[in-house]
Amino acid sequence: MTAVVELDAVGKSYTGVAALWDVSLVVEYGELVAIVGPSGSGKSTMLHLIGTLDRPSTGVVRIDGHDVARLSDRQLSALRARRIGFVFQQFHLTPGQSALDNVADGLLYTGMPARERARRAEAALVRVGLAGRLDHRPHEMSGGERQRVAIARAVVGDPALLLADEPTGNLDSVAGAGVMELLWELHAAGTTVLVITHDREIADSLPRQVRLRDGEVV
Ligand code: ADP
Repeated sequence: MTAVVELDAVGKSYTGVAALWDVSLVVEYGELVAIVGPSGSGKSTMLHLIGTLDRPSTGVVRIDGHDVARLSDRQLSALRARRIGFVFQQFHLTPGQSALDNVADGLLYTGMPARERARRAEAALVRVGLAGRLDHRPHEMSGGERQRVAIARAVVGDPALLLADEPTGNLDSVAGAGVMELLWELHAAGTTVLVITHDREIADSLPRQVRLRDGEVV
């Protein structure tokens, strides 16, 4: 079986300035990995490349077996929608919309009937411990709960890869620990999880760390 993430001598430059340099990395299906580095080390650039939001300047990026350079923009969007779940520091939920509807939106790309999307969204919310919050809107929930909704939305379509960008960055330590515990549970159930963080304590709590410094893996 191929790996879920394969970076082969990847570089990324912005207007001549190298943000990433000769990065090679393999993440196998089912791993829980931290990508850790200080501000400016290239984490966001790496997130964009692995998330297929951007293409490399040099080298090869393969996600779920697909060389991103060989896919059209449309194919790339489809790969992203079907195979990658995103979680962000700022949650990015739709305000004024219930937790259930926010999570069901994670299945819009499938063309599933609304009733089936709602059924799966409910199951995903139960899975992240929010059975009692289905009708709550984002402003009626705590930060930790909002991030759980965002995680439910990211995994409701059963992606090959969950990409979490500073998932605890906006949470107090108790809520943050709860979110990390949830990522461990997803990992235990077989989900591949990649956590991008500047927080060494969080990185060191995970089974594997990829350390970035000045655009290189060290
Ligand atoms: P991190 O996420 O670890 O803070 P980034 O990937 O954002 O690091 O940045 C790595 C380097 O690339 C930095 O020097 C940054 O200034 C530069 N960089 C990132 N994005 C751009 C961009 N769109 N245009 C120009 N330079 C960029």
